[in-house]
Amino acid sequence: MSNSVFRNYIAGEWVEGPSAIANISPSDLSDVIGHYAQADAAQAKAAIAAAVNGQLEWQKSGLEQRYAVLMAIGDELIARKDELGRLLAREEGKTLAEGAGEVYRSGQFFHYYAAEVLRQMGETADSVRPGVDIETRREPVGVVGIITPWNFPTATGAWKIAPALAFGNAVVWKPANQVPASAWALTEIISRQQLPAGTFNLVMGPGAEVGDVLIHSRDINALTFTGSLETGRKVAVATAGNLVKCQLEMGSKNALVVLDDADLDNAVECAVGGAYGGTGQKCTASSRLIVTEGIHDRFVAAVIERMKKLVVGNPLKEGVHIGAVADARQMESNLKYLELAKAEGGNLVYGGEVITAETEGYYMQPALFIDTTNDMTINREEAFAPIACVIKVKDYAEALATLNDTNFGLTGGICTESLKYATDFKRNAKTGCVMVNLPTAGTDYHVPFGGRKDSSFGPREQGTYAKEFYTVVKTTYIRA
Ligand code: NAD
Repeated sequence: MSNSVFRNYIAGEWVEGPSAIANISPSDLSDVIGHYAQADAAQAKAAIAAAVNGQLEWQKSGLEQRYAVLMAIGDELIARKDELGRLLAREEGKTLAEGAGEVYRSGQFFHYYAAEVLRQMGETADSVRPGVDIETRREPVGVVGIITPWNFPTATGAWKIAPALAFGNAVVWKPANQVPASAWALTEIISRQQLPAGTFNLVMGPGAEVGDVLIHSRDINALTFTGSLETGRKVAVATAGNLVKCQLEMGSKNALVVLDDADLDNAVECAVGGAYGGTGQKCTASSRLIVTEGIHDRFVAAVIERMKKLVVGNPLKEGVHIGAVADARQMESNLKYLELAKAEGGNLVYGGEVITAETEGYYMQPALFIDTTNDMTINREEAFAPIACVIKVKDYAEALATLNDTNFGLTGGICTESLKYATDFKRNAKTGCVMVNLPTAGTDYHVPFGGRKDSSFGPREQGTYAKEFYTVVKTTYIRA
């Protein structure tokens, strides 16, 4: 294979794969970003073996070395946010601002966990047996397998890799095949740090082959996955078979509730930003807009006016708000959900058209449906599309019940000026994250993130809570 192929990174070496794929921009089909190696099962196994060895060295590293490595990765991501954000935007389809913002936030994850390295405290206790002392401390879980989706190519990697390394683990990372360039760029930064060979490994390739090796391996001690519910279930079953610790972040069907007393302008910004930002391809997107009848008509009219101002087009152009749909398959799925929503009685009041931009790519005008009910397929399944559906309800009680009537539970939002309703919502929304007068999308890097029901499984990600997944607790009894 020629040197122009971006290679996998295994045991501290850049390694050719048995094959390669072309990475083509969804916003400009003539833009070939590069050719990326595809690992096979043998390479995935080699990466796991390398990680087993690398971890034994890395766990001996001093805290200051770990701190320095994580800080350096974070510094470089932040310094190169525009360049790497552009690369991310080219391969994923999100706008330049969204791409740069994601890379910046990824740097912040590394900085945050650099600080966590220095905060590794244990506990001591007296034994029930006189003369015996007890200490509990956290140790690395071992080799962490990381499988990530295409919609946040850098950030999902960062929020898993940073705590994995901070707590002394080795990593085998399999990114989504639609977005290898961002994963490769982050790996290249990591490859220049003071890490023992094998501590960090990148294996690009198809989920069914490379991912399959990771999820069935007995040498992986913990597997963290972000992606669809369908794949997540497979990961859970495979890892459970080997009693391997697993953490899943999956899809959702998030809702934003808008009550009669909401600040209308803010509610419109929350709805439009939350539903259509990132071309609606966010696990936190507000695909359901649950609106009480007193504000319904004003809200819908204002949302349509706001949507008219959204510029859809090539995401690399200044002034564009909504970039491209990720690929042909996602576009086909979006159009299928549009037709289904119409067939089930939804009233399409704005958008939904396939758009031609100056470059050939997958562009779709964000769509708004009204007159939908919560039992329609479009309000049950995650479309992962720039499609939002308004569900009209009588009052707050019906709004809350509707929000909770779903198999998912990642984020839930409410727009209201009422402390009483906001407080009740905060307590009773069955979601992992609650947003009051804020969009359902948009979370911080220093606090836990995750959901309930079919949205998440296993210990929480991010913030101090991440240590539950990335460490194991050891209890030691000592008689002096
Ligand atoms: P996906 O499930 O198709 O793929 C996710 C990853 O799993 C990819 O790397 C893929 O190659 C791999 N994979 C596929 N089949 C596999 C198998 N059999 N064994 C092992 N690995 C396999 O998901 P996607 O389309 O890339 O991402 C979109 C989904 O991700 C949406 O459902 C979205 O809601 C979800 N998501 C969730 C969060 C969150 O934090 N909750 C964040 C971002 C995205």
